[in-house]
Amino acid sequence: MRFLVAGGAGLIGSAMCEHLVGRGDEVVCLDNLVTGSRSNVDELSGHERFSFVEADITSAIHVEGPFDAVVNLACPASPVDFGPLALEILSVGSIGVRNLLEASRRWNATFLQASTSEVYGEPLVHPQPESYWGNVNPVGPRSVYDEAKRFGEALIMAYHRKYAMPVRIARIFNTYGPRMRPDDGRVISNLVTQALAGEPLTVYGDGAQTRSFCYVDDEVAGLLALVDSDVVGPVNIGNDTEYTVLSVAQLVIELTGSASPIVFAPRPTDDPTQRRPDLTLATSTLGWKPTTPLAEGLKATIDWFDKHLPR
Ligand code: UDP
Repeated sequence: MRFLVAGGAGLIGSAMCEHLVGRGDEVVCLDNLVTGSRSNVDELSGHERFSFVEADITSAIHVEGPFDAVVNLACPASPVDFGPLALEILSVGSIGVRNLLEASRRWNATFLQASTSEVYGEPLVHPQPESYWGNVNPVGPRSVYDEAKRFGEALIMAYHRKYAMPVRIARIFNTYGPRMRPDDGRVISNLVTQALAGEPLTVYGDGAQTRSFCYVDDEVAGLLALVDSDVVGPVNIGNDTEYTVLSVAQLVIELTGSASPIVFAPRPTDDPTQRRPDLTLATSTLGWKPTTPLAEGLKATIDWFDKHLPR
């Protein structure tokens, strides 16, 4: 198959490109490198079934088609980006998604959108099934991302209904692994880089808030199971083992053998209190489930940061 992977130089995108090329597919990776990094796809450069195009999906898409599938992973996704890249996020989630949908329609390609657990906002239902409509603050600091992703889902369903386009919507839950941006401000990258540098580990609030972390290879396998299925979704793709943030900090200290202390810092505005996917739909329709325990995925992530962080 021939894939266009938008946002292919990011954490999930680069793992997806690697997996697709490895299984024999042809991949065009498109990225504007705002949060992605060329070095994430360095090892694929020169491969006969891989090419890289530096471009922004908010501009017209000048890529030679056709494609069997278009995977849209293009969007800054870290809360620290929601302030400085607010307008870019709103553009990429609306104009960018529409440009890719139009191109997909021309190519008769299946379109997969990376939506997000953030559509559930501060969830009042726990764990979160896809049937839950969410509890999002429409004017808060996270709204640029949450509402752009919610708009994206509406836009994609409109194309699906109007043009009978084959579309897939995945709601991705906190994903981590090798090639995370060390400075992306996320809990795993912060804690691991802090532990390795011998600096204090920052826990926001009292650390009792929860997240459920999915290893990047499991995430890619789930997304591809969705592309290869005939399920429109939305489908939650994540790991349903839930941790408090404080327990993750303790686990990182244990796995790195770091002597760093844990320090407590203020909790960001509208930081969700709890998050865990209900995976019933994914497991029953895709035959997929995550298999990497947090400790195992963290070890691989720690090893990667250990090799790649500047000393
Ligand atoms: N967090 C933390 N310390 C950090 C970074 C994040 O305690 O150095 C917390 C954050 O407040 C949130 C959770 O970890 O409750 C996950 O944050 P992240 O930015 O990784 O992802 P989110 O799920 O909020 O998008």
